[in-house]
Amino acid sequence: MHNNNADLRTVRVRFAPSPTGSLHLGNTRTAIFNWLFARHTGGKFILRIEDTDRERSTPESVNVILESLRWLGLDWDEGPDVGGDFGQYYQMQRLDKYKKYADILVKKNMVYPCFCSPERLAEMRHQMQKKKLPPRYDGKCKNLSEEEIKHLTSQGIKHVLRFRVSATGITEFNDLIHGKISIENSVLDDFVIVKSNAGPTYNFACVVDDIEMKITHVIRGDDHISNTPKQIAVYKALGLDPPEFAHIPLILGPDKAKLSKRHGAASPLEYRDMGYLPHTLLNFLVLLGWAPGDNREVMSRDELIENFSIGKINDSNAVFDSQKLDWMNGLYIRKMPLSELADIALEELKKAKFIKDTKEVDINKISKIVGLIQERLKKFSEIPQLINYFFNEPVYEEKSVRKFLKKDGVPEMLQELCRVIKEVEPFDIETLESAVRGFIEKKGVKPGDVIHPVRVALTGRAASPPIFDVMEVLGKATCLLRLLKAR
Ligand code: GLU
Repeated sequence: MHNNNADLRTVRVRFAPSPTGSLHLGNTRTAIFNWLFARHTGGKFILRIEDTDRERSTPESVNVILESLRWLGLDWDEGPDVGGDFGQYYQMQRLDKYKKYADILVKKNMVYPCFCSPERLAEMRHQMQKKKLPPRYDGKCKNLSEEEIKHLTSQGIKHVLRFRVSATGITEFNDLIHGKISIENSVLDDFVIVKSNAGPTYNFACVVDDIEMKITHVIRGDDHISNTPKQIAVYKALGLDPPEFAHIPLILGPDKAKLSKRHGAASPLEYRDMGYLPHTLLNFLVLLGWAPGDNREVMSRDELIENFSIGKINDSNAVFDSQKLDWMNGLYIRKMPLSELADIALEELKKAKFIKDTKEVDINKISKIVGLIQERLKKFSEIPQLINYFFNEPVYEEKSVRKFLKKDGVPEMLQELCRVIKEVEPFDIETLESAVRGFIEKKGVKPGDVIHPVRVALTGRAASPPIFDVMEVLGKATCLLRLLKAR
């Protein structure tokens, strides 16, 4: 653990999503790192909904966020639904608090009203861009007199509140992932803290909430590094110490561009619907940028909590690898008890409309069937496709039919085999196998000359679980029917 005063206090961290869309993987990983840090240190994990963007925030998005976190098992100690001593946990319900802090800053003359119209600001930005200068406020309203302010206000002209940023010196902070970060104050703008509709901006509301909620560590994405000096300036203006900061590097797609939908990345709930286990996604995302320091990759929740530390988060960007995600999901599926997998398979079969009424289904049979594919399964959504021939007539792969069934001698061979199979009693794997092997020996052919056509006849495809297992589950009548039909 790092050395600082914050360690003496109970750790309080927050995940503060803006409900303006679905939760993407970068934010999901930010939530996971915050949660792991809280659980590792015995601290508190707080969920705060940053919904001050009134046009883009939606209740649907809030629901997606809450459901995603719940699905992943990231329980919050304070926040929506559970409450807490430092609520409310939706920013739109905390407007009185922002007002209180804005008034303090006004009194200290750390902020000033700015009456510039959006048109003037747009023109100003345009001119600066033309001169290849970073767009920043030119300070027109910085030194208005009391009279001027009164006059403009009396005319009903709307204003925002701007923070007076010192134009000289540097702002420095020790990032727990990146080390020392220094930013010249001259690049900072006199940023807006209260909008003309009286709502707070992100940089202001975030600081007020982090103060009021007694946040000790701010763990968030790298994309917020440029906001941190502004936020530190607000803490200083209020005479308060900022919390610790840890900025997590980005997740990149395989092409090294910022991970997006384009790379097939989805939100946690979409991964759920595609058939990934919550713990797969959790374990996988933790490893994007963090490692326990040894070669372990597959780790339980408890192991992750026990081993997690901010200091071991990598300071360079992580690359998303969907094959690794599939591999890991397959691994966790293999560890699942068969009964659990059978229940999931039943749901998937219903979803795919392969079965209508679950009451008609023999769950033992489903158990047996998924047992046959558990080894090769990568995600649950593959189940119906992999086992449909147990429930419906096989869909015959043209290429396999041509290669294995439409061959000289095969129809006759299948006919002969049917006579053998008819006599197999009991119809179990061993008895079947010894009967068919006997048949192969008697005919003096290669095992493949019999097994491959039988496989295609029964399943429609060239690849399937071990064929005698398949036959046992299908039962004698179905096997005979399909073999005769294929012939
Ligand atoms: N609402 C901000 C976001 O979603 C929060 C950033 C922060 O954690 O300070 O990016």
